[in-house]
Amino acid sequence: MMAQYLALKAEAADCLLFYRMGDFFELFHDDAKIAAAVLDIALTARGEHEGAKIPMCGVPVHAAEGYLARLIKAGHRVAIAEQVETPEEAKKRGGSKALVQRAIVRVVTAGTLTEEALLDARAANWCVAVGEAGGEVAIAAADVSTGRFELIETDAHALAATVARLAPAEVVASEASAFAEIATSLRPRIDFDSAAGETRLKALFGVATLDGFGSFGRAGLAAAGGLVAYLEHTARGSLPFLRPPLVSRNDQCMAVDAATRESLELTRTTSGSRSGSLLDAVDRTVTGAGARLLGADIAAPLMDRAAIEARLDAVTRFHDDPGLRDGVRSALRALPDVGRALGRIAAGRGSPRDLGQLRDGLDGARTLGDRLEQLADAPPLLGQLVPALRGHGALVELLTRALVPSPPIDAANGGYIAEGYDAALDDLRATGAGGRRAIAALEAEFRTRTGVNALKIRHNGVLGYHIEVPARAADALMKADSGFTHRQTLAGCVRFNAPELHEVALKVTQAGAHALAAEAAHLEELTGRVLGNREAIAATADALARIDVAAGLAERAAEGGWARPDLVDHACLEIEGGRHPVVEAAVAKAGGRFVANDCRLSEDNRLWLVTGPNMGGKSTFLRQNALIAVLAQAGSYVPATRATLGLVDRLFSRVGASDNLARGRSTFMVEMVETAAILAQATPRSFVILDEVGRGTSTYDGLAIAWAVVEAIHEDNRCRCLFATHYHELTRLAERCEALSLHHVRAREWKGDLVLLHELGEGPADRSYGLAVARLAGLPPATVARAKAVLAKLEAGRQKTGGLAAGLDDLPLFAAIQPAEEERPDALRTELAGLDLDALTPRAALDALYRLKELA
Ligand code: ADP
Repeated sequence: MMAQYLALKAEAADCLLFYRMGDFFELFHDDAKIAAAVLDIALTARGEHEGAKIPMCGVPVHAAEGYLARLIKAGHRVAIAEQVETPEEAKKRGGSKALVQRAIVRVVTAGTLTEEALLDARAANWCVAVGEAGGEVAIAAADVSTGRFELIETDAHALAATVARLAPAEVVASEASAFAEIATSLRPRIDFDSAAGETRLKALFGVATLDGFGSFGRAGLAAAGGLVAYLEHTARGSLPFLRPPLVSRNDQCMAVDAATRESLELTRTTSGSRSGSLLDAVDRTVTGAGARLLGADIAAPLMDRAAIEARLDAVTRFHDDPGLRDGVRSALRALPDVGRALGRIAAGRGSPRDLGQLRDGLDGARTLGDRLEQLADAPPLLGQLVPALRGHGALVELLTRALVPSPPIDAANGGYIAEGYDAALDDLRATGAGGRRAIAALEAEFRTRTGVNALKIRHNGVLGYHIEVPARAADALMKADSGFTHRQTLAGCVRFNAPELHEVALKVTQAGAHALAAEAAHLEELTGRVLGNREAIAATADALARIDVAAGLAERAAEGGWARPDLVDHACLEIEGGRHPVVEAAVAKAGGRFVANDCRLSEDNRLWLVTGPNMGGKSTFLRQNALIAVLAQAGSYVPATRATLGLVDRLFSRVGASDNLARGRSTFMVEMVETAAILAQATPRSFVILDEVGRGTSTYDGLAIAWAVVEAIHEDNRCRCLFATHYHELTRLAERCEALSLHHVRAREWKGDLVLLHELGEGPADRSYGLAVARLAGLPPATVARAKAVLAKLEAGRQKTGGLAAGLDDLPLFAAIQPAEEERPDALRTELAGLDLDALTPRAALDALYRLKELA
């Protein structure tokens, strides 16, 4: 057995091996030690291997899911080795000592789960593969729990941001590629060959050409091929359930890099939880699928105005009609998760209950479809969804006739096919029931015959039906002519058989076995019917999710008095009475009132410098405007009384000196790297919020950097920008930058106490209030008094020398950045130095050559 175990283990060296033995999955050696520690179960020992005891632990098969969930969560992969023949078959094959054959039937990994118990109902579970070909990069992403399949063409620079948007459970890459660094699973290079990928996709979808799926390049084929190969590998050869790929390009949605996502806490907070995120504050969906779709929408705000308006129209329809909204939402709330039930069935792990869920879900969808069809002035998006909701009439009717109202999860004991569906099955069941009645009658008869009132007819797996009497009453039945045959003597009772019983029992068992077989055949047939319609069913699940998102956003908007954003063509961001949905909830919970603030960025007033005391509400103001842009482009109403904005192509959010030591770089280094990324990438259509940039270094350095960054954003990037700073000196920039204006968060000292008004005002802050904030924070009075004295000295000195910003007035605005003639690099060199050879496509390389030639 150990030899068989070790051979299987060698096949799945990077996994914990669950080795099936009867009713248990056993783990041995190091696997056992790891699992025992993670699962907190007893580590025992069994037999010996090379002279040492073999550590072992095990989990019961019927409870394996829960244990699997914990192992996967702890970052492990688990290979499941099942018995692939029965002990009888083994005996027939190799004699009485033959070992039952086992094989790995599946590798369970975080990205390939379909089980309800192992998944978060409200989050998608992406497995992502990265492929490259000819200098291009693509991402293939699959959520096998619903069959969703996306192909995103991107480039080396935007790769990390795209991966961050999906927040995948697993990232797969070729072991030979540059992406090995971000991968959680490495696979052979050959799996990522684009030609092989094409073949694999054609086979998966049973098509002769992929043209019907939209156009994608070789990198897309490489990524998709690598992903499908990996899924086949984990499913041990059986084909994964994937729907035709949705092909998109990276630039079809707002570019939001990983640092910005983290800083704005779009779908997860910095500490990784959903609660406290923007998504959580907005989510009023009532189905798991709706929550998953809303998460995807917020993670990928759109760039296509028509598509955004279409979503908004649907939200408006529900917003303006509370009766409709409530009706639709309560109908949705009652529906099972059609997409995930289909995913389990398609993965071959479906149960009768999953079929029941499809029946109920599709039936509910049909009712909803009828209701929406009758809707006067339905917006186009809703109108388009109606056909997807209906059209399962025949299947629903079939499942309704075939299944009992609430079918069990476990098919093994039957009982899920409804009466009246199959006359032969009904007969078998009647025979079984008749037999069981006959057995009950026999019991009464045996009691009278033997005079033993405690006599019972029982059933178990070993003896089948048998007669049981207490030991003290057994003598009467033991007699040779009693008509009973002795089977077994236990401590307190003795068991017998009788020919009459045997005859009836045989009928019951046979009828039972035949009935089970008949039910299993129906299950297979029904499953086949469902799979034949799987694309249409998945489309229904999508439609339900889209409706849930629209109705949920409408609910949220109504609840919070949110407004529908106005999308315009010019680069503005005009928010009246804007609020931060997460901070607002926190403030309200603490019994406070959130102060709404306006923001009016326009083409000629595109950079706002916000000063004011710490804790005054600067960050909150910055972020709320970024969140409003995200929500608007995701197709949601926004927390404001009015909002007008031009689409944002890239969103950046940076907080100075954020604690990023975890990433292994000094905080200031991170701050500068991230700021550099903004200066390199922000366009006039972008929106940037910068919070205390420059804080991570000495005062002079920090001020100088902040100064230069503001200038660069104002002059070169020319994007919309909110810049919060405690460097009062920066306010001087207002004199030289025509599209920059000054703002501050208001505060007042009242009876020696600082009152933060969280209200935005025009102009610079009159003073810094640092000491007042220190006192507010509980710094001891003596320390505050001492600080006051030091400050007075410093300020006296500053007045004499002209202050920290003395001399800045003489700084010519842009001449200062220009190096002297002799050290200025010539254009050719600059162009050359700026080329990233590894990231160039052949086409771009040719272009670059022409440019260089022109400069020479
Ligand atoms: P700053 O960036 O100026 O240090 P924050 O934006 O972090 O200040 O805000 C500090 C705290 O003040 C927040 O946690 C919140 O409790 C409160 N706050 C911020 N803005 C508002 C507001 N507009 N209305 C009410 N309370 C606010």
